[in-house]
Amino acid sequence: MIILKSKKELEIMREAGKITAGALRVVEEHIEPGVTTAYLNRLAEEYIMKHDAAPAFKGYNGFPYSICASVNAQVVHGFPNDIPLQEGDIVSIDIGAFYKGYCGDAARTFPVGDISEEAAALIRATEEAFYEGLKYARLGYRLSDISHAIQSYVEARGFSVVKSFVGHGIGQQMHEDPQVPNYGPPGMGPRLRPGMTLAVEPMVNQGTDQVEIMEDGWTVLTKDRLLSAHYENTIAITEEDPEILTVEG
Ligand code: MG
Repeated sequence: MIILKSKKELEIMREAGKITAGALRVVEEHIEPGVTTAYLNRLAEEYIMKHDAAPAFKGYNGFPYSICASVNAQVVHGFPNDIPLQEGDIVSIDIGAFYKGYCGDAARTFPVGDISEEAAALIRATEEAFYEGLKYARLGYRLSDISHAIQSYVEARGFSVVKSFVGHGIGQQMHEDPQVPNYGPPGMGPRLRPGMTLAVEPMVNQGTDQVEIMEDGWTVLTKDRLLSAHYENTIAITEEDPEILTVEG
């Protein structure tokens, strides 16, 4: 069941989104060769708690950290660790925060120092695919119009979309109905209505769309070990333009 949010609920989700975006910004400001993702995890957690919010990922189905940090061939759900980031790496940071009972969820892939042109193109296409999907996040369209736009954009650039993990509705739960795949035919699924809040999150691979899960039971990585990038915002469907909730404003 898709839960539509009231104006009042959207106001709180805007606050949750602002805190989530702020935590991502702080992490971004500290990314450089030599920094560990465990340190970035600590920074994000401190920022979230300082803003009277709670990290949404910590303890979710037993996930042990406040952020996901997925380096290079890691797609999503990577564990922060003590391995220093290296020049040329790309690192996907996913952060969720609960504020007054509502959740914000956002992710970005960041370059570590100078990266290859191919890696930069992958990051760029992943962000642009989100905005391509966003064009259809409005009245008059159905959910899979977003999915289809993302897949078409990504595949036209020679990359692939991950299919075994998808975006999701979000609100008082981090994961609500509906699922928001990054692939599929247009014109399917529920009609988009004001008050729907969705985490739209293209996960884009340089090579195969096939992924596997590491021995830690969480970290998803590309089967061919080529790069992967992630771009996510929590958005709200409105009467007019969609609103991105995970911004600092
Ligand atoms: Mg998400």
